Amino acid sequence: MRYVSTRGASPSLGFADVLLAGLAPDGGLYVPESWPALPDLTGCATYAEVAAAVMQPFVADDIDADTLGACCREAYETFSHPAVVPLVQVDYDQWLAELFHGPTLAFKDLALQVVGRLFGHVLGQRGERLTIIGATSGDTGSAAIDALRGRDNVDIVMLFPHGRVSDVQRRQMTTVPDSNVHVVAVDGTFDDCQDLVKAMFVEAEFRERLRLSAVNSINWGRVMAQVVYYVTTASALACPPVFSVPTGNFGNVLSGWVARQMGLPIAGLAIATNTNDILARFFTDNDMSVRQVVPTFSPSMDIQISSNFERLLFEMNGRDGGMTAEQLTRLRVTGRLAVEPDQRAAFLHGVFRATSVDDDATLEEIRRLHVTTGVLVDPHTATASAAARLGLFEGPTITLATAHPAKFPDAVALATGVRPPVPPALASFDGKPERVEHAPNDLAAVMAVVERAAR
Ligand SMILES: *Cc1c(COP(=O)(O)O)cnc(C)c1O
Repeated sequence: MRYVSTRGASPSLGFADVLLAGLAPDGGLYVPESWPALPDLTGCATYAEVAAAVMQPFVADDIDADTLGACCREAYETFSHPAVVPLVQVDYDQWLAELFHGPTLAFKDLALQVVGRLFGHVLGQRGERLTIIGATSGDTGSAAIDALRGRDNVDIVMLFPHGRVSDVQRRQMTTVPDSNVHVVAVDGTFDDCQDLVKAMFVEAEFRERLRLSAVNSINWGRVMAQVVYYVTTASALACPPVFSVPTGNFGNVLSGWVARQMGLPIAGLAIATNTNDILARFFTDNDMSVRQVVPTFSPSMDIQISSNFERLLFEMNGRDGGMTAEQLTRLRVTGRLAVEPDQRAAFLHGVFRATSVDDDATLEEIRRLHVTTGVLVDPHTATASAAARLGLFEGPTITLATAHPAKFPDAVALATGVRPPVPPALASFDGKPERVEHAPNDLAAVMAVVERAAR
């Protein structure tokens, strides 16, 4: 399988190069040259076996079937539930797909546990090493650290805004003892951290010498690995389901669209946003205009420009990279994206519908689910569950439950009066020493920290 850039000005690459590169040199995102068909899954007896079968065509030529099978088996052995992604029925035609049984209790583990192992394999084969840098406002940092800790060909440096992540989220990162893990508290906001990471990638000599790379949500490997749970959960129901997806960077729901391109029968993809509703405005009114980000109870969805949306835009443009690059430049400059209404309508065929759910409605949905079923859900899941009940599409609906309620205990307690029990994965770091470097919001200072970290 070869991959092309959504901005049309980079040479095509194979899977291993795409995995290590993250972003294409022209600033675009890599997508497969064509969409493979879903393989025959009869005979697959575990989630890991389905995962290997679904991903094989995407990695073909670069990763052999035995290696991929082993990476998947080891990745999903770290999950605490034998189904990996269990379905829980919450109404006659409503299910939750629980994506939070991995080591850091958010859905990012499903992709990153595999992607981390694929990184280790490719680097080992090439005799290379890399420095992964990233910025996190919460869930991505701990999931990436857990997936890469202890690997001898990778150092990981994770920046987070000092004092602006929850206690639980900070300790999930800082109590990891492995010497290849480096956590940096920056005096600034999440956007400052992300700008520092981008600025380091622009320093060409620094980037080359330290072999900088990233595992943020634009990495194709993550989108690919997320296709799998759409397949396993849809296959468990008797007719094609609607999926309701809490959406931030558009990675998760894009994986559902890819599953559909591969032939998985899906009745619709419902996109739930919080008050940061740029995607809801685009899909309902063709209005993609950037507004200020406001903080909500679902911080992993507090995003304005969803980086993975570029992959869908590329498809909407009939895979015209030049046109995609031009539209995105205009979005950066004017804060507005214009897509021809007929082109948008013809492409979407009603596959995507969207709605925004504010904080009050989020708490109300957490409360309602608890009262009617006894199930506790986190605020991100609640936005999608509320969207599912609005009936954007008809038919049985699977809501993707993206985080364990114990990761967001304050919002859950506010809604229900009940504090979710703390699972062993969160209790285990009680009393462990924290390792964290402190840095000012200054490029030279942060580069010095990264320099020391990369051996
Ligand atoms: C990352 C995240 C999301 C948003 O997923 P995207 O792929 O960015 O759309 C939703 N919920 C939780 C809990 C997350 O961590």
